[in-house]
Amino acid sequence: MEVQRRELLGLTSSDLCQLLESLGEKPFHGKQIYYSIYKLRQFQIGEMTELSRALRGKLQQCSRLTLPQPSLSQLSVDGTRKYLFELADGKRIESVFIPEEQRNTLCISTQVGCPMDCKFCLTALIGLARNLTAGEIAGQVLSILKDQQEPLPEIAAKAKRSQNRRGSAKPVNIVLMGMGEPLLNLENVSRALVLMADPGGIGIPPHRITLSTVGLAPKILDLAKAPVVPNLAISLSATTDDVRDQLMPVNRKYPIHDLIQACEQFPLRPRQRLTFEYVLIDSINDLDQDARRLVRLLSRLRAKVNLLPLNPGQGNGMRPSSPERVRRFQEILASKGLAAYIRRPRGADIFAACGQLHHAQQPLQMVH
Ligand code: SAH
Repeated sequence: MEVQRRELLGLTSSDLCQLLESLGEKPFHGKQIYYSIYKLRQFQIGEMTELSRALRGKLQQCSRLTLPQPSLSQLSVDGTRKYLFELADGKRIESVFIPEEQRNTLCISTQVGCPMDCKFCLTALIGLARNLTAGEIAGQVLSILKDQQEPLPEIAAKAKRSQNRRGSAKPVNIVLMGMGEPLLNLENVSRALVLMADPGGIGIPPHRITLSTVGLAPKILDLAKAPVVPNLAISLSATTDDVRDQLMPVNRKYPIHDLIQACEQFPLRPRQRLTFEYVLIDSINDLDQDARRLVRLLSRLRAKVNLLPLNPGQGNGMRPSSPERVRRFQEILASKGLAAYIRRPRGADIFAACGQLHHAQQPLQMVH
């Protein structure tokens, strides 16, 4: 019978030191392994040349390092690239790389599928298969940066300073906005946040990481106590409980009032704001009175609003608001002093835009 080998991806530096100690080795080799994985991005145990050949052999016997490998990827006309990852157990998730002028954004998944059942989102059709591990969450970042040949942020900053700069040395933003509800997998997400933000590892600072949630009110307060607290985005998408109950069943458990109250208790750094995402659906949640109610709901919060015209998906007869409606909605918010941005969809031609991640939606082809 083969012994279960220990997965190294997802362990922190101190976890690795403990592991090495338990193998009767010097703990500091754990630090070397951590550095190899997260800084040097060496994902083959056999090629971690800072370790002795004997130690590499021993590690290969009792452990493994499984970076999620993209099995397919698709490139949008706008430069967005969607990755399909096949995990060790054959389950599949998607992640998206979104190049922008000032930064590159990685949109990563936290669950295989999602149980929240939002009526406008394609991922909902899959239901929940399982939570991702911390290694699988942080591994998406490592794997995409490797594929894009992006230097890790610290190396990018060095390259910039030395004027030896490649065009791609941009800061990286992470958004936990792929498949899944991150606050339903808070323990693993929290560990992944520690890995992603560690200056001695991946090194993406917390202010460049945003977690988006359907609004599980009590878990928002748990997140505030996590060791690494990212920016918080709330998917609101309605201004009355009647409408939100219909669009987002989670609202029946945590109605708008409870959600806003939890948001009011979420600690913000100076100049930090909460983001409210609002999917605009024709005649359902895009009326002038919705805009005015939204201003009132958020009046006690330091907040901005991202307006997302509905992306086609579930095929249930809902339509995106017209561009004029979207603009009018934005104007009403702005006229009352509420900052609102219209988000243009990225990667919609390859079903990579918000709410479109669903690995079985269409046959994927390899496009390079
Ligand atoms: N479960 C989390 C993380 C997923 S983020 C959350 O819901 O926040 C996905 C974002 O895309 C959410 O803001 C969601 O409201 C938005 N979205 C989902 N379906 C969409 C669609 N069809 N068009 C536009 N945005 C959509």
